[in-house]
Amino acid sequence: MNTPLIDPFHRAVNYLRVSVTDRCDFRCVYCMSENMTFLPKKELLTLEELDRMCSTFVRLGVEKLRITGGEPLVRREIMTFFRSMKRHLDNGHLKELTLTTNGSQLERFAGELFDCGVRRVNISLDTIDEEKFAKITRWGRISQVLRGIDAAQEAGLRVKINAVALKGFNEDELFSLAEWCSSRDMDMTWIEVMPMGDLGNEDRLDQYWSLSDLRTRLASRYTLADLDERSGGPARYVRIEETGQKIGFITPMTHNFCESCNRVRLTCTGQLFMCLGQEDMVDLRAPLRDNRKGQGQLEAAIRAAIKLKPKGHDFDYSRQAVDGQMSRHMSHTGG
Ligand code: SAM
Ligand code: SF4
Repeated sequence: MNTPLIDPFHRAVNYLRVSVTDRCDFRCVYCMSENMTFLPKKELLTLEELDRMCSTFVRLGVEKLRITGGEPLVRREIMTFFRSMKRHLDNGHLKELTLTTNGSQLERFAGELFDCGVRRVNISLDTIDEEKFAKITRWGRISQVLRGIDAAQEAGLRVKINAVALKGFNEDELFSLAEWCSSRDMDMTWIEVMPMGDLGNEDRLDQYWSLSDLRTRLASRYTLADLDERSGGPARYVRIEETGQKIGFITPMTHNFCESCNRVRLTCTGQLFMCLGQEDMVDLRAPLRDNRKGQGQLEAAIRAAIKLKPKGHDFDYSRQAVDGQMSRHMSHTGG
């Protein structure tokens, strides 16, 4: 039996988020610039390498795998990878296989994802207004995403909507989004915008809409009951008594979740980030590709990386300067 992955602060690491591509068919303004240079193919882990990497993490005690990107469903042949991961669900080592997607390809893939054992998906949608959607995603069309959501629900996938809270953009949709999600039996989570990447044309401080303000406004209309439930992640949840729906708040800017952090993130090039808000990373691609010392080398590299997991991160908007700003894009670490 393998000893589980425990970091220096006694947190068990049992959740791996994996970015399978840095590419995307959208260009959301807070995530990417319009003219992105993507990585050459040889830099990416192949599907077979992704399989070996994830399987090693599962062997070391990872029970939850979230596939993300970029847009995970634009990676060619990605269903091969999902199909292959199903074996870990079947033998009970993996408890959950899930993904975060912009929804654009779900019409095509929802049924197959369900067959691979996926039961829940997070779909990112910041607005239900067609024009605003086109503006925020630059290249997206909302009709495609709405068809994707329909397909996901028809396939039997439970859908959660993730919306980035953006000042002056979707403040006016606070109630309409909640009601739309509720009418479709979907939970939703609001995410505070994070200072990721140098996007050139967007002023991050202008976009920042604090979730405490969002919550206060929500409470002015609805009765909110705090839920104890923690997903081991950064979300805090409330239940809207009037509709029964769950609303989550992800506030990465406040240090309210680092102490219970159970996750690490793997980039599509095989770098392991132990914390979303720190630059420290460990390259796992080299030990993965180097077969000389066999499987043990990758396992040792993962264990050594976990020993470096920091206590927490250090974003801070409080001095009206974006301290702790990350130079890499969210699409690189996979959000
Ligand atoms: N393409 C997929 C999607 O959009 O769901 C998966 C990758 S995307 C990077 C994952 C999540 O990160 C999305 O919910 C997106 O809204 C969020 N995100 C991207 N940039 C962000 C930022 N600067 N601050 C907060 N959330 C961000
Ligand atoms: Fe693409 Fe997701 Fe980033 Fe939007 S948030 S550009 S959909 S990776």
